[in-house]
Amino acid sequence: MKQFQYMRPSTQQAVLEAINKPGTKIIAGGTNLVDLMKRGVTAPDKLVDINHLPLKSIAATKTGLHIGALALNSTVSENSLVMQKQPLLSMALKAGASPQLRNMATVGGNMMQRTRCTYFYDITMPCNKREPGSGCGALEGYNRMHSIFGASPQCIAVHPSDMCVSLAALDAVVIVSGHKGERRIPFTEFHRLPGDHPEMDNHLAKDELITGVEIPDNNFAKNSYYLKVRDRQSYAFALVSVAAALDIDNGTIKQARLAMGGVAHKPWRLIDAEKALIGKSVSEESFKQAAEIAMQGAKAYEYNSFKLKLAPATITEALKHASGLV
Ligand SMILES: Cc1cc2nc3c(=O)[nH]c(=O)nc-3n(C[C@H](O)[C@H](O)[C@H](O)COP(=O)(O)OP(=O)(O)OC[C@H]3O[C@@H](n4cnc5c(N)ncnc54)[C@H](O)[C@@H]3O)c2cc1C
Repeated sequence: MKQFQYMRPSTQQAVLEAINKPGTKIIAGGTNLVDLMKRGVTAPDKLVDINHLPLKSIAATKTGLHIGALALNSTVSENSLVMQKQPLLSMALKAGASPQLRNMATVGGNMMQRTRCTYFYDITMPCNKREPGSGCGALEGYNRMHSIFGASPQCIAVHPSDMCVSLAALDAVVIVSGHKGERRIPFTEFHRLPGDHPEMDNHLAKDELITGVEIPDNNFAKNSYYLKVRDRQSYAFALVSVAAALDIDNGTIKQARLAMGGVAHKPWRLIDAEKALIGKSVSEESFKQAAEIAMQGAKAYEYNSFKLKLAPATITEALKHASGLV
């Protein structure tokens, strides 16, 4: 591993000044960044440890819930406000990684974690995300874990986070701070599709820091579910995951939120399927119809065509759990 400098500023201003210089990277829990450094995927000159910043709080606001960027994944998943107001987020976090990793991983780091595409991690292979212009090893390679929505000829990798799928479904807002002040970015617009620039995972500027995330209050707490399908029951990334949240009145769906993980370069929100559910009665038939709508435009590659069946089945099953049908 390349030698690097390490600093631990205690003010946000000092962090912003430090990250404005080339070759610097923020480190929070380090569970993703250090792996990438050890494998030579990234080689920063300087690490800016943000763990001294006061960004760990979880608090109710007038309109929702505010979670600091340094709140640990384990703390958030067990927090009583989160479990009461936004159980979908708690479920998604508990489906991710392992207890040890969740004890280190932060909310901001989770949002910024990089793809688990094996071609991205293997520095002997071509990867436009790691080395722009080098090609995409996965396109004609072993692409079992890869995307079925929103890919480009440059990159077919998927975003690996569970937490982010639930935050996309829950209309969360990312709060970032930079030299020009604070910005609020709707969660669904934070991550980006690969297009011609797969090296860019999201819309955070180089000199910006994530300070927190806000989830607006909603009526989904009673009827939400996170379903993750993976090769092992724990400690494995999603083949397909679904965050489902429903507002049900007397057996009729008033509002629906759906997002999928393991299928695209970003958490994949299913707006058309959500619209199709409004006014429908809670039934397997309605859920299957919504799943069919959600799959429009899906495209598989050589080794991941099973996702074309797995994804709609997972949507249907997640909705059955969320609605209490099972
Ligand atoms: C074996 C293993 C299994 C895993 N399984 C899962 C899984 O099933 N599901 C899942 O969702 N995740 C999984 N993960 C990933 C894990 O959730 C992430 O590694 C973790 O969330 C990253 O958080 P961190 O605080 O450690 O980030 P770090 O490693 O410290 O940082 C990651 C990136 O975020 C940037 N960053 C960190 N904080 C900020 C901030 N506030 N503002 C701007 N940039 C910031 C860093 O510069 C870096 O680029 C797994 C990880 C491992 C190692």
